[in-house]
Amino acid sequence: MKAHDGMYIDGAWRPAAGTDTIEVVNPVDEQVIGRVPAGTAADVDAAVRAARAAFPAWAATPPADRAARLAALRDILVARKDEIAETVTAELGSPLPFSQAVHAGVPIAVAGSYAELAATYAFEEKVGNSTVYQEPVGVVGAITPWNYPLHQIVAKVAPALAAGCTVVLKPAEDTPLTAQLFAETVAEAGIPAGVFNLVTGLGPVAGQALAEHPDVDLVSFTGSTAVGKRIGATAGAAVKRVALELGGKSANVILPSADLAKAVGVGVANVMSNSGQTCSAWTRMLVHTAQYDEAVELAAAAAEKYGDRIGPVVNAKQQSRVRSYIDKGVTEGARLVVGGPESPREQGYFVSPTVFADVTPEMTIAQEEIFGPVLSIIRYEDEADALRIANGTVYGLAGAVWAGDETEAVAFARRLDTGQVDINGGRFNPLAPFGGYKQSGVGRELGAHGLSEYLQTKSLQF
Ligand code: NAD
Repeated sequence: MKAHDGMYIDGAWRPAAGTDTIEVVNPVDEQVIGRVPAGTAADVDAAVRAARAAFPAWAATPPADRAARLAALRDILVARKDEIAETVTAELGSPLPFSQAVHAGVPIAVAGSYAELAATYAFEEKVGNSTVYQEPVGVVGAITPWNYPLHQIVAKVAPALAAGCTVVLKPAEDTPLTAQLFAETVAEAGIPAGVFNLVTGLGPVAGQALAEHPDVDLVSFTGSTAVGKRIGATAGAAVKRVALELGGKSANVILPSADLAKAVGVGVANVMSNSGQTCSAWTRMLVHTAQYDEAVELAAAAAEKYGDRIGPVVNAKQQSRVRSYIDKGVTEGARLVVGGPESPREQGYFVSPTVFADVTPEMTIAQEEIFGPVLSIIRYEDEADALRIANGTVYGLAGAVWAGDETEAVAFARRLDTGQVDINGGRFNPLAPFGGYKQSGVGRELGAHGLSEYLQTKSLQF
């Protein structure tokens, strides 16, 4: 795999300040496929200076011109989509067809949506005797995870650039090659030097330096709740804007009137997709007691079909974390229906698709985010019980509701304490705001709501 040995700062690949490197490992065969520099506070500082210097001109660039650069970026992502998919597959381990459809396809859609929004968004409006302007916040520090390596980057960088902000990106240490490829596409798209900068490195070193840098105006972070809390505290102390996209433990609520087979089948697919490494995955399936046994059978059959067709999880640490959650489920008395803690292959960071039945709402596997291919099926007695269980975690990122008619499903969904709900298997919408209630986060990504995170408001009175 191609790897740059420098940082992309001020429009060029520059040598890193230090000599440490990070090994990039293919999770399928555990082989090292590349090395990238491990950035330090000095690299972060150089990148933030470049972003600051580029900010006034980019902020003053007419939105239509920013839109044209984003459209060019989208076109280059399209032209390089096979390379993107191969890179994500090499460093994340996801099967190639999934990488092509989702890891390459979704960022292309999101980049396209921001090319359009930059051209059409009302950055100025009249309110009575005032003119209200939406102005870019300034320099953005973006910190992203590995689970959807390019999507997480584009979901921050595209709206930031559309708004007129400049960016320093610190991508996840497990998937830096996709980030380097993205930096190449930014350069090809003719986005001016300094508007986008990339510093690869470790979270507690480069990530922390970026989150704490006094000349960063907004920190946009996606990752674990533990790190998000610290970043939020740091930003709060500096009275700095912060956007946090954190963990989830979403509920898939199957009401008695639903098409049970469809709801269970889609629900299992949702959890197994990307080897369970999806923050919005519906990892708790809630089924009425009268349909419970049938649902468990359907889920077991659906999960078994996945067998070893799913990819590995990202690294050895994540593999042992997921396996220890499976052990915990067994210890706490849940019934293992499919899968289990044993690794299905000798090589690679694989975890068997796993289904637990007889999970009760207070069990660890029903409360904590596992981030692996593990489904918990929970029984409810009536609607009030289902609602209490669905809302009974610290998280509130996503969810699903299934019912015989949409009105019934919508009425239930409106009572869920969560940011995004799919009704009867609703499709992904790149313009729909995505983000959490409760400890799942602060702020929204995607569409116009995602763009407004990078804007601040000024009003002039006449
Ligand atoms: P993580 O929090 O360890 O890492 C995320 C990013 O933060 C990485 O780039 C990492 O290098 C950086 N980081 C780590 N420590 C840091 C620090 N002290 N200061 C600044 N940056 C630091 O999480 P992860 O292991 O990459 O991802 C798994 C977790 O992320 C899961 O809990 C998952 O739910 C969550 N996640 C949430 C979303 C969402 O949209 N809500 C998306 C993906 C992942």
